[in-house]
Amino acid sequence: MTERIFEQDAFARQTTATVTGCAAGENGFAVTLDKTVFFPEGGGQPGDRGRLDDTLVLDTQEQDGDVVHLCDRPLKPGDNVEAVLDFDRRFDMMQQHTGEHMLSYAFWKLFDAVNVGFHLTEELATLDLDRPMDPQQIRQAVAFANRQGFEDHPIRVYTARAEDLDPARVRKISAKGGQTPRVVDMEEGDVCTCCGTHVRSTGQALPITVTHADKHKAGVRLTFLCGGRALAHWQKLADVTDALGRLFSTDAAQLPDRVRELQQSAAEARRRLREIADALAELEAARILAGRGDDTVVLACLENTPAGEAKTMLNLLIRQPVCAVVVYTQGDTLGFYCGAHPKSKCDCRQACELLCGILNGKGGGKTDFAQGGAKKTDDWQERARSVVQVLNRQASAR
Ligand SMILES: [Zn+2]
Repeated sequence: MTERIFEQDAFARQTTATVTGCAAGENGFAVTLDKTVFFPEGGGQPGDRGRLDDTLVLDTQEQDGDVVHLCDRPLKPGDNVEAVLDFDRRFDMMQQHTGEHMLSYAFWKLFDAVNVGFHLTEELATLDLDRPMDPQQIRQAVAFANRQGFEDHPIRVYTARAEDLDPARVRKISAKGGQTPRVVDMEEGDVCTCCGTHVRSTGQALPITVTHADKHKAGVRLTFLCGGRALAHWQKLADVTDALGRLFSTDAAQLPDRVRELQQSAAEARRRLREIADALAELEAARILAGRGDDTVVLACLENTPAGEAKTMLNLLIRQPVCAVVVYTQGDTLGFYCGAHPKSKCDCRQACELLCGILNGKGGGKTDFAQGGAKKTDDWQERARSVVQVLNRQASAR
């Protein structure tokens, strides 16, 4: 059975060990040692990574009561290796894990809320509480946990018989710990059973912050950050705030007001732009209709125009007793609408067929309205004009 150095000393970074076994598996080679500083996944904390000499340890797992190092290549039983932990990664995990104890204690102490779930990865740490918490309660608990950190209480780890523990102080006793569970005891703070690794004192987990609260089952799931993760998070926020402050030439406190002003002026600009676009469309429709002479079919060609504006143009044109063809482009694509005033004798379906033919497109519709689309060509306006000429010749021959 492997001697678990991390249980006594979570800050041990390396040890010389003897390989006691090596088996090939699906995810690499499962290597066991006579002793190890590598923590196997458990209690919500991921397994450690590092190296055994030059062999990478990709993960560490508990298997049949032993610690298994999943390695990228095999090692020979009997050989001595230098087992070196990725301690930066482990220390980050210990900060999150210890912070989880401190937050859980704060919610339990202040609001009787019970931690019913803990999830920790390299990117994310969450804890689940059995009841909902409002933002004010969460702020209170976070402040409480950080205060415990400022007081920098030592964290002791020992084994004890469950019945010897003071029930008033113990937040949780896990059944997995057996007769003499491993106890993690924060002086004047959290006491619970846990198999994981923790920092030496509450101050080493600081700062502690909660970034999200999402409804989860009957309670809430809190996303939290401790230590280096919290600092990195705030640095990111500070960078964003600083960049925004420069853009708006203001300090952070004024940013919400400045963004609101910007939203209002953008809405006003959009409204004004719509008015101008509508007035321009009216003028363009009037120009087309005024220049139609004896034609009963009119054409509007609109470059880089949204479909909605093209439809508006169609409706403006067929207020007069004509048939209208509106062809518009957007990037590489082209669309068209054909519409007819009730007094117009034009057949929009036929117009659509002719357009589809000459533009190599697809479309369909009824006598009074049809639409379609095609790929844009360099001469799309000429092609559309030729169709409208044919329709006008047909109309005048009737
Ligand atoms: Zn723990």
